Amino acid sequence: IVVVESLVKRFGSFAALNDINLTVAKGEKIVLCGPSGSGKSTLIRCINHIEKHDGGRIVIDGIELTDRMADINSVRCEVGMVFQSFNLFPHLSVVENCMLAPMKVRGLSRPEAHDRAIGLLRKVRIHDQANKYPAHLSGGQQQRVAIARALCMQPKIMLFDEPTSALDPEMVKEVLETMVELAREGMTMVCVTHEMGFAREVADRVVFMDRGSIVEEGDPDTFFSAPRTERAKSFLSQIV
Ligand code: ATP
Ligand code: MG
Repeated sequence: IVVVESLVKRFGSFAALNDINLTVAKGEKIVLCGPSGSGKSTLIRCINHIEKHDGGRIVIDGIELTDRMADINSVRCEVGMVFQSFNLFPHLSVVENCMLAPMKVRGLSRPEAHDRAIGLLRKVRIHDQANKYPAHLSGGQQQRVAIARALCMQPKIMLFDEPTSALDPEMVKEVLETMVELAREGMTMVCVTHEMGFAREVADRVVFMDRGSIVEEGDPDTFFSAPRTERAKSFLSQIV
């Protein structure tokens, strides 16, 4: 469902991504890890076309992302994104946060958007907070709202960029549980995370990046217990 070929992304003369090749099959769960500055967020942002790439190709569900694309929004609709900071709209209630894009972009009526939002808030077990404002929720609750909000667009793939790293430890679990459940239901997922328990539980493949390149990839058990490259070994020794 996602094909990334020979992807290059530069910031000025600095190559943040250098010849990245990555294919994500429908239903596949990929965990992306690597040291700070290795290009994980940049890769995720290129896939979501928040950043424009300088070379190579990105194809999502059969549509290539290019500068000239007539309808970038139709592709972006299919890609849900959850960030480290929850990025909820502070002036909208939880349920309104979830209703906005489906009404504006997908053309749902207010009652349709409301029903869908409540359904997905129930799924992330937070429907009892639907009429509160984001500021009145805990970090873990806000992040689950962010996940529900992304799901309200019925994306074909979900991208997560360190969704739990801004959370207090006791809230990490509830967000990871939500993500595990989503994985079980068959969602295609690319997750930047250093949560090794999550990676072992749900990842089909762990992709390790360093200095703008994919250095190593493999199934989680092999990657964590027997990394092949020195760079992966030294990275893993630092995070556990
Ligand atoms: P972290 O684990 O700290 O989130 P990361 O792997 O997500 O790191 P990126 O945020 O993708 O790393 O950054 C990759 C490199 O690109 C870094 O060296 C960073 O300084 C650089 N970079 C990222 N965004 C920009 C930008 N907008 N302008 C210039 N350089 C940038
Ligand atoms: Mg990052």
